Amino acid sequence: MHELGIVFYIIRDVKKVAEENGAEHVSAVVMDIGEVSTVVPHYLTDCWRWAADKEEMLKGCELRINTIPAVTHCDECGKDYPTVKYGKKCPHCSSDRTWLLKGNEVEIKEIIV
Ligand SMILES: [Zn+2]
Repeated sequence: MHELGIVFYIIRDVKKVAEENGAEHVSAVVMDIGEVSTVVPHYLTDCWRWAADKEEMLKGCELRINTIPAVTHCDECGKDYPTVKYGKKCPHCSSDRTWLLKGNEVEIKEIIV
């Protein structure tokens, strides 16, 4: 379960940004989580609740998750397609010369004070 480790990274970053901006409390953190990232959103929010409430600055702070759809690009025909539905093989030309364009992100998008 590596979600807890990720939560500690998020907390560290959020606290740093909040301190730099002179914020005393953060009310919500918005994350971009890619569809094929290794993070399970509901584990992440569970870990978040547990860990964030131990921090004075983050008590009651909500973790919002934007799911970013995974898109794969095909070098053979130049088209993009949804990764989760078709996997590594291009549905347009059956090539496997494909690579993940997006959908792997685990990023802090916004910090709301
Ligand atoms: Zn193709």
